[in-house]
Amino acid sequence: MHLTRASDDVLQLALLPRGGINAYLVGEVLVDAGLGLHARRIIKALAGQTVVTHVLTHAHGDHVGGAKQVSDALGAPVWCGAGDAEAVRAGKPVAASRVQSLFGWKPVDVARELREGDEVGAGFTVLDTPGHSPGHIALWRERDRTLICGDVFLNLNFYTTIPGLNEPPRAFTVDPARNRESARRLSELEPQLVLFGHGKPLRDPAKLAVFARSLSPN
Ligand SMILES: [Zn+2]
Repeated sequence: MHLTRASDDVLQLALLPRGGINAYLVGEVLVDAGLGLHARRIIKALAGQTVVTHVLTHAHGDHVGGAKQVSDALGAPVWCGAGDAEAVRAGKPVAASRVQSLFGWKPVDVARELREGDEVGAGFTVLDTPGHSPGHIALWRERDRTLICGDVFLNLNFYTTIPGLNEPPRAFTVDPARNRESARRLSELEPQLVLFGHGKPLRDPAKLAVFARSLSPN
């Protein structure tokens, strides 16, 4: 695992090369937890850090997989978007395809269901960004224009890992048209720093805007 300080209080936990799968520590909030096999490495990497809350961007196995083990070890309650809470608790995604239904995880207790406008700590506010999953959320911090976008955008090709902005794969996206609406909404915030579930951080709001505008409405 590779640890990178993306800004003053943002630590990127790159769980695969090229940021193939990321988790983040923002202030005292851990965002996402990779696959089940990443849990022990995350726990080790966070030794000595204070983690008070574990927030999940959405109910997919490469974000929730390590959540049960990590939250138990750190004693940090799990919060996630209200629309994905049932899936997180059940240990299986609302699947867009038969292949996706194979990727489950250990059921996780959800202590709080998040909604648009909720504050999660470290100055971040919840934005409802449905489409990739029904209850997908992004986290936005106005003061330094930092956006944790989950999988609304990817900053690499999911299959080849070649860097660059992409949409999430359709086989893993319940409503691609809705995800495009969420993508446009996020790009209009003009974030200075975007942190992705997959891919390296982006510090180029114009590039994000051009990409979002290139997406047709469906
Ligand atoms: Zn996903």
